Amino acid sequence: MKIYISADIEGIWGVVSKKQLGGESSDYQRARKLMTKEVNLLCKCLWENGATEILVNDSHGPMDNILIEELDPRAGLISGYPKTHSMMEGLDESFAGAVLIGYHPKMGTEKGMFDHTYSGRVVGSIKIDQNEVGEVGLNARLAGHYGVPVILVSGDRKVCEDVKEEIGEIETVSVKTALSRYCANNLPYDNLIKNYKTSVKKAMESIGSAEPLPKLENPTITIDFQQSIMAEIVENIPGVVKTGEQTVSYEGADISDLYRVMRSAITLASTIL
Ligand SMILES: [Zn+2]
Repeated sequence: MKIYISADIEGIWGVVSKKQLGGESSDYQRARKLMTKEVNLLCKCLWENGATEILVNDSHGPMDNILIEELDPRAGLISGYPKTHSMMEGLDESFAGAVLIGYHPKMGTEKGMFDHTYSGRVVGSIKIDQNEVGEVGLNARLAGHYGVPVILVSGDRKVCEDVKEEIGEIETVSVKTALSRYCANNLPYDNLIKNYKTSVKKAMESIGSAEPLPKLENPTITIDFQQSIMAEIVENIPGVVKTGEQTVSYEGADISDLYRVMRSAITLASTIL
C-alpha cells in the first residue's frame, strides 16, 4: 500500500513558539529535528501496518524543513519550493491513503495552535462552495480529486476537532492542547508513541472502506483577505471576481484548478506586505 504524507510544522509535538517556525534561530533547528522525528515515528507505524511505499511532502514555509539525512531511509521526500500543488504536491491516483501530520487549525480558532489558513498575514478565511475550510479540509478535497482518502490527521487538539467538521470521522492524533496561540500542554512522549501506534493501525485498517471526499465539479473558492487592497490586486487574475471589499471568488473546473489559483492569489496578495 502506497501512502502519502503531507507534513506541516505548527502541529508537531513540542513546537510552540514563533521562533520555532523558521529563520536563523537554534529553536528552528530544534523544530526541524522534532518534525523529522515525528514523521519517522509515523513512518515506523505505517510500515508496521502494511505500507509498502511512502512519499513525504514537506509542507511548511520554504518546504525544506525535514532533515533528509535523519529521515527514515525507506521514505521518499519532496523538499523545496515552489511546487504546483504546494502542501499536496506529488499526490496522485496511485496512493491508497494520505496522512496529514503536524497540522494546525484554521484562522480565527480560539486557543488554536498557530491558527491560520495558508498565510496568516494574507488570508482571513477560505470557503469552498460556501463551506469554510482550513488546510485540512482544503487538502482533503484535493486528495478526493485523486480518489485518495485522508485516513489520519495529527496536530493540536483544535485541528483534530476541525477534522470532524471538514473531513469526517477519521483517525486523529492530538499531540498537544493549546493554552494560547503560542503555548501548549504537550503529551508525554511515551503517550504520543502509543497514540500513533493505535491510530495508525486503525487508519491503515480503514483503507478499502474509507471514502475519499467527493470529486467536485465546477467548485467555487472564496477568499476573504486581511486587507482590501489584496482583493483589488488579485481581481486582476483572469476569472477572479471581486465579491466584497476584501473578498474574491473564482469558479474553476475542479479543485486542482482552484488550488492553483488560490496559490497564485496568495502569492500576488503578499507582494504588498
Ligand atoms: Zn506551516
